[in-house]
Amino acid sequence: MPRIGVFVCQCGNNIAATVDTKKVAEEMAKIPGVVYTCDYKFMCSSPGQETLKQAIKENDLDGIIVSACSPHMHEKTFRKASEAAGLNPYQCEITNIREQCSWVHHDKTKATGTVKSIDLTRMTIQRLKKNQPLKKIKIPVKKKALVIGGGIAGIQAALDIAEGGREVILVEKEPSIGGNMARLSETFPTMDCSQCILTPKMVEAELNENITLYTYSEVEKVDGYIGNFTVTVRRKSKYVDEERCTGCGECIEKCPFKVESAFELGLNKRKVIYTPFPQSVPNIPVIDAPNCPKIQKDKCGACAIVCGPKCIDFKMEDKLETVEVGAIVVATGYQLMPNERFGEYGYGRIKDVISGLQFERLASSSGPTGGEIRRPSDGKVPESVVFIQCVGSRDEKKGVSYCSKICCMYTAKHTKLYSHKVHGGQAYVFYMDIRSGGKRYEEFVRGAIEHDGAMYLRGRVSRVYEKNGKIIVQGADTLSGSQVEIEADMVVLATAVVSREGADGLAQRLGIGYDKHKFYNEYHPKLKPVETVTAGIYLAGSCMGPMDIPDSVAQGSAAASKVLALFSADEMAREPITSVVNKVTCNACWDCLTACPYTAIERDAIKDRKGNIVKWVAKVNDGVCQGCGVCVAACRSKSIDLKGYTDEQVFAAINTF
Ligand code: SF4
Ligand code: SF4
Repeated sequence: MPRIGVFVCQCGNNIAATVDTKKVAEEMAKIPGVVYTCDYKFMCSSPGQETLKQAIKENDLDGIIVSACSPHMHEKTFRKASEAAGLNPYQCEITNIREQCSWVHHDKTKATGTVKSIDLTRMTIQRLKKNQPLKKIKIPVKKKALVIGGGIAGIQAALDIAEGGREVILVEKEPSIGGNMARLSETFPTMDCSQCILTPKMVEAELNENITLYTYSEVEKVDGYIGNFTVTVRRKSKYVDEERCTGCGECIEKCPFKVESAFELGLNKRKVIYTPFPQSVPNIPVIDAPNCPKIQKDKCGACAIVCGPKCIDFKMEDKLETVEVGAIVVATGYQLMPNERFGEYGYGRIKDVISGLQFERLASSSGPTGGEIRRPSDGKVPESVVFIQCVGSRDEKKGVSYCSKICCMYTAKHTKLYSHKVHGGQAYVFYMDIRSGGKRYEEFVRGAIEHDGAMYLRGRVSRVYEKNGKIIVQGADTLSGSQVEIEADMVVLATAVVSREGADGLAQRLGIGYDKHKFYNEYHPKLKPVETVTAGIYLAGSCMGPMDIPDSVAQGSAAASKVLALFSADEMAREPITSVVNKVTCNACWDCLTACPYTAIERDAIKDRKGNIVKWVAKVNDGVCQGCGVCVAACRSKSIDLKGYTDEQVFAAINTF
């Protein structure tokens, strides 16, 4: 006969408001095999856990149930406490009577909640009776990490992992690391020069012997599991031998062809052989193959002629490289929503209507105007600039429903930069609300208004058009209740921050989740903000949603600390809730293999003594299996069981009714 204990939590008033926890405990005491019951205000508190440990020891319990909140919250807590009291931790089960009962039943007489809690707990008792004690799975860990994305979050993660003594491969799809931050002029709220604070980190990453940079590279395939990932990286052909190139730049100098610079967002041109910006890391040029006449039509070749070390190879091909790593940090960043969607603001139609990032390039000393604010159309210094916030943000119909979080701050910064660079110039800002929640952020916005003279108008812009060489901006000022019309020389749109193009494809290759905006999902927004549902893959920065630089850096470090913690032991222990295949009944239909969302199922050959294959069966890789149970449902011959949730256990629970 089992000896089961049942602990019913009141969760303060969260459960006790609609569930009579005392009654639940009393009812459970009547079930055969239950030898101990109690109810308590906070089971997760120290005294609550002590009660649990003491009861296990004093009553010689061989299984316990805590009827409380979701297992996501405290299953680990109670399993640890059980283990400390000498019980197999997997003999501790949770009944969720909070999220699945008290929070959805508002009957203050407690009748409904109590009956349902009794039923749910009864079911868990019967399931527990069929439990098998499980053991954690031990997995060897490869102590090398891969960071995808060389923006500030990825650089920070790579540097922290490297400083922790572990090797890192930093993969960046552009020819240089630096990300969007490399485009910025100054940064809010301190107004440090972005390049001045970023480039030392970029150089540090290049020089750190634990970091290998794979620039102009993309992740194509990810196999394996926590501690043991095999990643295929496409190293796109740069047509320049990186080992021999000295970065002298002669080739760039002599290249006779120019195309629009993606880094300068169309505000300037670059050569066909190029580095994206002067401080690029690595400072190795790449040839833009589709625009190179030598590669396309076998004409020119000027760069190869002037290259001293002879490192230009027009026949160079992409290489696929396979790397073995124990952990992956994803830090692929953001992009801005294409402005073309917002025709009413004149983007694409009026040359001097630009995006916030384009304004950054105009204000940057390394930008196309050397840091002078000049109109793209004629190079004239604008006497008045209208900044329009929330272009596409908080606009479900034309853009996205969320707030892009950084626009209020960078627009305030833009007005400051403008007033510092163009004395006597007038900045106008159309806004919906000012969201400046951050250390010294509110004071920064106040400064833009009170010291730098930016005129803030609360309202939407309805129309932007050109008249007599000026841009006319019509909108509403809802605070004064009047319509306004401003004659401007330039208009800057604070366009919505969106996920990177291809973010969904990468997520599918990695097996991590993403939301409807294709921002990556953290495992738990509050408690596991840099982890994903796939163990061993971590997130950092604005690939999760709009984020400013301080938060991105903090997340890079947070992800790195998770990686270093994982690498601190030679083996890691994994939860044993994984599927297991019955080799006798498996008929190799491979339905499970197709259904498994984590590609945890492999084909396994059963051989006779002479080594001849007698049968193929499915086999679950314990390192990859996340215990989701999809394969169990997919298997028509009922040959798969999920440990801890076997058919026998589930039927035992159902059969309590
Ligand atoms: S000329 Fe040769 S060595 Fe110099 S930057 Fe170009 S590719 Fe490198
Ligand atoms: S439970 Fe089955 S479907 Fe889910 S991860 Fe494990 S093997 Fe794949």
